[in-house]
Amino acid sequence: MDCPRCNLAMIPTKYENKNVLCCQSCWGYWLSTNQLDSILHTLVYKFDENEKQKILHDLSKGNLAVPANKDGKIKCPQCQGVMIKKPYSSSCPIIVDECSLHGVWLDTGELKALQIYVEQQIGKVNAKSDLALQIDSIDRRLAVVEQKLDYLINFIRKVRGDG
Ligand SMILES: [Zn+2]
Ligand SMILES: [Zn+2]
Repeated sequence: MDCPRCNLAMIPTKYENKNVLCCQSCWGYWLSTNQLDSILHTLVYKFDENEKQKILHDLSKGNLAVPANKDGKIKCPQCQGVMIKKPYSSSCPIIVDECSLHGVWLDTGELKALQIYVEQQIGKVNAKSDLALQIDSIDRRLAVVEQKLDYLINFIRKVRGDG
């Protein structure tokens, strides 16, 4: 199959143990939606922290490097149908080209940026549940303190004779 941007044959390659196609001219990737989801939701290796921060910064500023012809519509390398441009998920700043039948095209750098974006989103969710657990434990400790206070107040009342 040919690269939808360069029209040169793509080379089979492994990306995090998945068999995907890569264009050796523009370094874009062609893969199935399942492969993409699985790559994004398994953390195979850790990114360099500096690189990660730089990409997150670029994403927040909306200036992730994109090819000059990024705005142009491209065709599915399998069926030649025009692919749909859409964010990977709602509120995701990374736009991917997708053929709903055959797969997703990611320009150079986009796959890595997506991995970092999803990793950060998952991290946020985990951080939230950590907080929820802490609040639960504080609630439980407060309940114990309240019980003790009740007991103490009753005790004082009894001692003073007004209970
Ligand atoms: Zn290419
Ligand atoms: Zn297609």
